[in-house]
Amino acid sequence: MAVQPEIEHPRKAYGWAARDTSGVLSPFWFSRRKTGEKDVTFKVLYCGVCHSDLHKLKNEWSDSIYPLVPGREIVGEVTEVGSKVDKFKVGDKVAAGCLVGSCHSCQNCVNNLENYCQQVIPTYGAKYVDGTITYGGFSDFMVADEHFVVNIPSALPLDAAAPLLCAGITVYGPLRYFGLDKPGMHLGVVGLGGLGHLAVKFAKALGLKVTVISTSPKKKNEAIQHLGADFFVVSRDQDQMQAAMCTLDGIIDTVSAVHPLMPLIDLLKSHGKLVAVGAPEKPLELLLPPLILGRKSIAGSYIGGIKETQEMINFAAEHNVRPEIEVIPMDYVNTAMERLQKADVKYRFVIDIGNTLKPHY
Ligand code: NAP
Ligand code: ZN
Repeated sequence: MAVQPEIEHPRKAYGWAARDTSGVLSPFWFSRRKTGEKDVTFKVLYCGVCHSDLHKLKNEWSDSIYPLVPGREIVGEVTEVGSKVDKFKVGDKVAAGCLVGSCHSCQNCVNNLENYCQQVIPTYGAKYVDGTITYGGFSDFMVADEHFVVNIPSALPLDAAAPLLCAGITVYGPLRYFGLDKPGMHLGVVGLGGLGHLAVKFAKALGLKVTVISTSPKKKNEAIQHLGADFFVVSRDQDQMQAAMCTLDGIIDTVSAVHPLMPLIDLLKSHGKLVAVGAPEKPLELLLPPLILGRKSIAGSYIGGIKETQEMINFAAEHNVRPEIEVIPMDYVNTAMERLQKADVKYRFVIDIGNTLKPHY
């Protein structure tokens, strides 16, 4: 029989977990391993809320393990380091993102792409090397191998840094990899949520022209005046879509639900690339001729490796890329999930774990 989460490790830990596909979160006692020689233990101060957490809470990708403690945009302060840790010391401000383990020897790992390792270990809801289940950042402290921990530069506020760990790297990575990072290029960002608003900010910091493609007309003014987008197109308005045809060098599609791809492909110039990062649970419809007739491509991209995650954080610190956040207390999280489902957040919820996660005995 499986060992109870409260006693499988020596240290008592506390967080909020979903117990089933209702996704409702409630207080949960579990345990964490003691600090191993290459481990960093840190007190969680802030944790962002990603739409992936919502997909996982509701088992929309059919791979969730309950009890499930979500949270993969985790920022905190180091409280203990193992004897062989050389990157961090007690008191450092650090973060962990979506990954806590990989094989370290495959081609992907050797090329700093741990995210594509076949043995990658996600931060929560996965089996760790010792056979226990991983739990995420909606919890009081984390223990992680130093390889998967990154440094938060002092220029970044700790609460606003959190969304960079997942949303930030997920959009920054493909801009770089697919060459959509040259000043003057024209990028489309589909879906102005957590990922989308950071795609706009990174693209602007790189000198790109940006069109937001959104289902929410009410987001227009802020997208242009506050986030710095150049144009705003309502995807359900045929005239606006028609006017934007063949204008984009690339698209980052962050939409979390099933949506029509073909009108987006029409917005690309010849040779344009649509990079999907949103992960709807059902297949999308794709006709090939519109790709063939313009030598266009569709690709996907999954978070990023640890080296690039640190580069992205440093870039954000240096170029003043700051996620727009709504800081919430822990006990607001279920309401936050309902609002996230309705795209009612500007633009990322961040839980103030340090001040509001209190054990309920
Ligand atoms: P989010 O904050 O909820 O943003 C998603 C946006 O998509 C919404 O704000 C909305 O923008 C648009 N949208 C929602 N429903 C739609 C629909 N039915 N049709 C068209 N547009 C719709 O979510 P997020 O945290 O940014 O995450 C977005 C997606 O990326 C999720 O599927 C998540 O799991 C995935 N993700 C992938 C990776 C990766 O590595 N590839 C990493 C993190 C997250 P508008 O109101 O502007 O239309
Ligand atoms: Zn590997």
